[in-house]
Amino acid sequence: MTTWLPIPADSDFSIYNLPFGIIETPSGRMGAGVPIGDYVIDLVAAADAGLFGARRRHVQLFEQPTLNNFIALGNDFAKRIRRRLQQWLCESKLPKNSTDILYERSQVRVHLPIQVGDYTDFYSSLEHATNVGKMFRPDNPLLPNWRWLPIGYHGRASSIVLDGTPIRRPCGQILPKGSETPIFAATQQLDFELEIAFVIGKESRLGHPIPIEQAEEHIFGLLLFNDWSARDIQRWEYVPLGPFLGKNFASSISPWIVTLEALKPFRTRGPVQRPTPLEYLRLRGWHHYDIALEVSIRPKDGPETVVCRTNTRYLYWSMAQQLAHHTINGCNVRPGDLMASGTISGPTSDSFGSLLELAWGGQKPISLADGSTRTFLLDGDTVIMRAYAQRGHLRVGFGQVCGTILPAIKGD
Ligand code: CA
Repeated sequence: MTTWLPIPADSDFSIYNLPFGIIETPSGRMGAGVPIGDYVIDLVAAADAGLFGARRRHVQLFEQPTLNNFIALGNDFAKRIRRRLQQWLCESKLPKNSTDILYERSQVRVHLPIQVGDYTDFYSSLEHATNVGKMFRPDNPLLPNWRWLPIGYHGRASSIVLDGTPIRRPCGQILPKGSETPIFAATQQLDFELEIAFVIGKESRLGHPIPIEQAEEHIFGLLLFNDWSARDIQRWEYVPLGPFLGKNFASSISPWIVTLEALKPFRTRGPVQRPTPLEYLRLRGWHHYDIALEVSIRPKDGPETVVCRTNTRYLYWSMAQQLAHHTINGCNVRPGDLMASGTISGPTSDSFGSLLELAWGGQKPISLADGSTRTFLLDGDTVIMRAYAQRGHLRVGFGQVCGTILPAIKGD
């Protein structure tokens, strides 16, 4: 596809991508937007210019503070909007209405793209589960259920924040090494978790599991997700009911939802699953995605260092398996629900998706470009996650999700 709009070759937001988000225009109007190169398409203005037909209906749909109503119309509707935008971008000459519809991206503010209903976090990377297991339970790293079902827990939607939101170092109960009584203190083991999350676009009915063959019809698209974690708080509280305050103080998401349609060319084979999963988790074909991921740390006033490079194709359980499992008991899902993959670690020590693993529980500090080392995050550190899929000239990226650590405010 050739467009009249100049798009840098390495842009995450190529004409093949066209993800959706929420923008605030210079005049202060909130509504849906689509990034393209260094620009963003204002879907409210595009609808008002008659790009999608039925002018008033589309303006009403897009002039909203979240994408929830839009994504609830289903993936076929979003596909039609993307195709119409591609057509418009490929018109043989600059369309007359282009200046009313396009903004430079630096001119608009982005907002949370969805109102998140429920949020679930999975634990679907075999390498991550094994690494963490080795540290937390050296004699029994991978529990027997792990290879039979996508482990997950219900998280907290209220603390999901947008890219760029500062993250306050949390305080909590921590059991000092060798002690039998906990103290109340700021976490000394603040960590990131590199994850991809999917957004539910189609409702399911309570009591009606989503068959695995239909799971992807319920997924609108994907986001980058940083599941900030306080390891010392987590270690003391997680038995017997799982993650709680060590996790729910903040999770950051990237602003643009990349559709499954845009990611279709990057489908890939997943890892061989042994033992063979139960029938309701079996699906033929390729349902994993080849998306390159990286994490950087930028200290206050220092340069950025890439500390991890990995790929979503390493995930053991696919999104379809996660969703089929999530609903097999009849649990229903709603548009705007968010489900994260769990930390994505690869097979090599530079492909681990958390500092816990990269610095091996504090035993192997990692070096940064400014000469400092890290076992966990320091105040003033900025964590930046990026993701993109690329094949030849075809590039579909996620942009980034970042957050800077602020010092704790202690209650005492
Ligand atoms: Ca997580």
